[in-house]
Amino acid sequence: MAPKRIGVMTSGDDSPGMNAVVRAVVRMAIYMGCEPFVIYEGYEGLIRGGAYIKKMGWQDVRGWLSEGGTLIGTARCMAFYERPGRITAAKNMVLNGIDTIIVCGGDGSLAGADKFRSEWPTLLDELIVNRELSKSQVASYGSLKVVGIVGSIDNDLPGTDATVGCYSALSRICELVDFIEATASSHSRAFVIEVMGRHCGWLALSAGVATGADFVLIPERPQEHDWREDMRDVVKKHREIGKRKTIVIVAEGARDKDGAKITPEQIKNLLADKNKGGLGLDTRITTPGHVQRGGTAVAFDRMLGTLQGIEAIKAVLEATPEMGTCFIAIQENKIVRRPLMKATQDVKELAAAIVAEDFEKAMSLRDAEFAGKYQSYLTTTNVLMDDVKLPPKSRMKIGFINVGAPAGGMNAAVRAAVAYCMGHGHEPVAIHNGFAGFARHHDDQPVGSVRPFDWLKVDSWASKGGSEIGTNCELPSESGMELVANLIEQYEFDALFIVGGFEAFTSVAQLRKAREEYPSLCIPICLLPATISNNIPGTEYTLGSDTCLNELINYCDKIKQSASATRRRVFVVETQGDRSGYIATLCGLCVGASAVYIPEKGISLAMLNADVKHLEQAFDGDRGQSGAGRLIIVNEKASNVYDAKLIANIIQEEAHGHFESRVSIPGHVQQGGVPSAMDRCHAVRLAIKCIEHLESFGRGAHNRAKKDPSSAAVIGIQGSEVVFTPIKRLEEQNTDWQNRRPNAAHWLGSYETGNILGGRPRVLMHPGELAGSPTTPK
Ligand code: ADP
Repeated sequence: MAPKRIGVMTSGDDSPGMNAVVRAVVRMAIYMGCEPFVIYEGYEGLIRGGAYIKKMGWQDVRGWLSEGGTLIGTARCMAFYERPGRITAAKNMVLNGIDTIIVCGGDGSLAGADKFRSEWPTLLDELIVNRELSKSQVASYGSLKVVGIVGSIDNDLPGTDATVGCYSALSRICELVDFIEATASSHSRAFVIEVMGRHCGWLALSAGVATGADFVLIPERPQEHDWREDMRDVVKKHREIGKRKTIVIVAEGARDKDGAKITPEQIKNLLADKNKGGLGLDTRITTPGHVQRGGTAVAFDRMLGTLQGIEAIKAVLEATPEMGTCFIAIQENKIVRRPLMKATQDVKELAAAIVAEDFEKAMSLRDAEFAGKYQSYLTTTNVLMDDVKLPPKSRMKIGFINVGAPAGGMNAAVRAAVAYCMGHGHEPVAIHNGFAGFARHHDDQPVGSVRPFDWLKVDSWASKGGSEIGTNCELPSESGMELVANLIEQYEFDALFIVGGFEAFTSVAQLRKAREEYPSLCIPICLLPATISNNIPGTEYTLGSDTCLNELINYCDKIKQSASATRRRVFVVETQGDRSGYIATLCGLCVGASAVYIPEKGISLAMLNADVKHLEQAFDGDRGQSGAGRLIIVNEKASNVYDAKLIANIIQEEAHGHFESRVSIPGHVQQGGVPSAMDRCHAVRLAIKCIEHLESFGRGAHNRAKKDPSSAAVIGIQGSEVVFTPIKRLEEQNTDWQNRRPNAAHWLGSYETGNILGGRPRVLMHPGELAGSPTTPK
């Protein structure tokens, strides 16, 4: 039987990450024994046919991960809205032997694909009646198989938490706001920033949460009252406590409670109004415009595009004529398939609800995460306005502590949790410099390590890297458990909120175990995992891991460029990550590494041998024309013997002058400067959930804390859910203490995926992960 032919196209507006989708689809199709075809310029190419439909080889998509936009072009196509256009498109598909397409685009493109699929049999009938194709020509093309991948910067399709491109756009916006903040603060100015999103406020809302903006206006939820009064009140309050900058973020499609568009000029005039009662602020408008679409994809979009491209191939191979069209979605951390019809209907209903000013319905059609994010925004911006304070007897004194190495998002988490506490009437208290700082605290010192938070300062922490309250790796057992227990009693803490990595995890485990001996430790304790290594049991994601990945891929893109320019060069890059290969693996997946070495798999001579041979073959076939450099990623603890330098030397020696190798170690750069937009957004959401969890125990909850295992818990993203897991269970069942990581690595599937897409020799893979009869590419 002839190999199955699969078409892939990008359509509608471009978005960063589309190239990752096409690369994954092309290579996975080849791996599964199919023939991939790209269709240039979206539906336009399908209608034009000829050179617009091109068979792709393994090498054709080399180096695509680090390119912005879409390399196969995209377009809007009026002709495809009409049936004659779709008839021609069907003809071209049959002539090229293609009855399966993967469409990456926005809701319009996917709606078009669904229509095409449902009409397909009648389109073929018409082609036969018109004598454009014969019955025998269409005989084996009875049904069209379509799978959608949502490529859009707006994140506007219900049913998925994220679309390919949305986090890249969000990162651009956050970068811009971060830059503006400095000048705003210097001149005590106000800035109004208009971001994309005609029907969807995700970008505006997420940017507001990630940057700690003063006010956000989105289409789905106009203010219940007059937005002018609401905004004036909030900004005025913020200025009264001494804030020197004001940031208002408005989505293009924001409307007031009467449905009228809110323009940046209106906002500016209001902020600048010098009349009595006005704010009189020096106000500027900034519109980032197409900058939001530009640039290379961030790590998350590369990963999402790649994993969804793989899933799309699996979906088309499993599709039957009876199945409806599906699209590939992500829910928290899980790639899932969803019915397309329902999602496109929801988009239409949502747009109609906004026009009809039914904002409750509009909000309900967005995902639960969206409503949660809106709540986070309200919590963090309305700290001083909140009238949700609990009755005095329910208010708690909560100690905040950072433990371990700094990780992106720690400060954003602390800021959000402080905001929540203040809003609800709790007393948040900073314990500076981890348990070490706590234990060395002396009341007679002028500045002790236990201090209240000053909101004016904390408010500026949303985008700050490092740890403002200071972090330290010392464990409570090292500081002195009795001393720690006494201090908790002395300060009358009702709860502890800990942010940190594996040392923080170990600390919570120690505190729990010491409860028998020291009753003062019977208070609710919650850990929000934050470490670049992503090695904390109970969660598939830790704060800081996304920041680290982005630092690494930026670093690797530059190295790869250098390797490409000099031709025939392999760079061996050593990553951190402790004894968890997560960062190395995901980095490899995002930059298209030739090989990744991780502690979970170790390094053997056979592996090195196979990889060197693979490189030899690759450079043999390369006449220097494409110039794509090669990268090998090695985790710092992948092997006790083979470190990055030795691996580079072995490669150099074995290459016999045919190609050369260099070693490159980014070191602490990996902790990142400014935390990624994603880490900041997750930090806010998860930190608020942590305090809610602590709050559920109430004040003075010693008895309950003693009995309830969830009184010492870790918050985590597991599959499609956010959960709290008792630390006792994690300690006893899920932790590989010797290797400081969870017993099971949830991401090992990505390691196999990276191997497949990097064309790594099959000897190194686990057998049986994927169905079908894979072929090894050259
Ligand atoms: P996006 O995919 O970014 O939402 P559009 O809505 O402009 O962008 O759709 C892109 C293209 O998809 C259109 O130019 C058209 O060719 C096709 N398309 C969109 N909606 C339909 C539809 N209802 N029927 C047929 N084709 C459609």
